[in-house]
Amino acid sequence: MTVPAWSQPRVAIVTGGGSGIGEAISRRLAADAAAVAVFDLIGGSAEATAAAIEAVGGTAIAVTCDVADRASIEVGVDETVKRLGRPTILINNAGISPFERFLEISRESFDQVIAVNLRGTFDLCQVVIPHMVEEGWGRIVNISSSSAQTGNFGHTHYSASKAAVIGLTKSLAREFGRKGITVNAIPPSFIETPSLRLAADGGHLGGGIEEHIPSTPVRRVGQPEDIAAACAYLCRDDASYVTGQVIGVNGGRVIT
Ligand code: NAP
Repeated sequence: MTVPAWSQPRVAIVTGGGSGIGEAISRRLAADAAAVAVFDLIGGSAEATAAAIEAVGGTAIAVTCDVADRASIEVGVDETVKRLGRPTILINNAGISPFERFLEISRESFDQVIAVNLRGTFDLCQVVIPHMVEEGWGRIVNISSSSAQTGNFGHTHYSASKAAVIGLTKSLAREFGRKGITVNAIPPSFIETPSLRLAADGGHLGGGIEEHIPSTPVRRVGQPEDIAAACAYLCRDDASYVTGQVIGVNGGRVIT
């Protein structure tokens, strides 16, 4: 007998849901019976994910949204409420990860990394949490990065933004646990997505993706579905005692 993820219908927002990890999370939450609002910068990629979910009998809508823009977030969340209902699951996954040496990082690049990875997460939480409070239930999963735990060459702005996401996660967990809302972070490492392939092609990984397999304890490259599975667990009703945690999904590449 399978235990359903939720005792009642749930609406989820997944940012950056048009590609890679966000796409896998969107599909997984929909498979678990959530109605999913797929947020992405490029409407076309969000539409492709939503269409794939609908094609297998799930419920999804595509929402064009720039998480670096508060007004765009507010419009996107309003649209979600109107078309699907109040969102009570929020996955902050959209992110950018340019590789730039520290002394060459411009103010503009620093600000953009912070705007997407950190302020976007902050703004989404601030706009969506009132709906969760109203419902007396909520699940937030923030996708951080193992770079926040270990640091990474050429990634000072990125690592700083992702480390800040962990601090945000822990503080929100303390503030909103009493409202039935859990907040956790997943810092992935080495997940095979378009952005990882781009990093490999740019020579930023110290070799090709496969070359890292021997140094990965589980001896394989991570897949977006690995993150989606952990995320799905954290969003379930029966994960209500798990909050403020940083759940590494990294094949053992980072053990803290
Ligand atoms: P990805 O394939 O590049 O997907 C990222 C998604 O976020 C893309 O659909 C992208 O849209 C979207 N996005 C970027 N900026 C946005 C904005 N301003 N507003 C809305 N959407 C935006 O990357 P991924 O590997 O799946 O990464 C997903 C998350 O995991 C990121 O936060 C990343 O930092 C984190 N992560 C990944 C790994 C890994 O090994 N892959 C490791 C650690 C952490 P466009 O394609 O239109 O730009």
